[in-house]
Amino acid sequence: MENCIFCKIANHEIPGSVVYEDEICLAFLDLSQSTKGHTLVVCKDHYENMLECDDQVLTHMFLVAKKLANQMKTNLNAKGVNILSNAGEAAGQSVLHFHIHLIPRYDEKDGFDPVFTSHQGEYDLEEVKKQIIG
Ligand code: AMP
Ligand code: ZN
Repeated sequence: MENCIFCKIANHEIPGSVVYEDEICLAFLDLSQSTKGHTLVVCKDHYENMLECDDQVLTHMFLVAKKLANQMKTNLNAKGVNILSNAGEAAGQSVLHFHIHLIPRYDEKDGFDPVFTSHQGEYDLEEVKKQIIG
């Protein structure tokens, strides 16, 4: 897609620090480096986000994500990895081309702080369950 920064990196029109590549996807270092080794797995075809992505491409990308996350543990000595994907601007997605973040974790002061705020008790879980099932 024209004017998509991740399409341009995937097509090697602009540079990226590529750590993995095959015919379906590639992975390169996120410029922000939330923690050392923060990497993005990006599909070569343009899908806006995970919800729009072709199932086979999605499955393949998560297998690549698993492989790279294990490499982060082995080769970067990460103690864990946050694996996440923002789907939609309301969810914080800023680049509208599907990508999976791999954020190696070293300790609680390594620079990344995923906070799950608790609203326990605010919602009727039975009602919410019914709404999701539809
Ligand atoms: P998101 O907010 O989930 O869409 O994540 C987009 C990510 O892309 C951010 O973490 C940015 O730091 C990263 N990013 C944007 N442009 C580039 C680029 N040219 N090379 C590497 N990472 C980038
Ligand atoms: Zn794109």
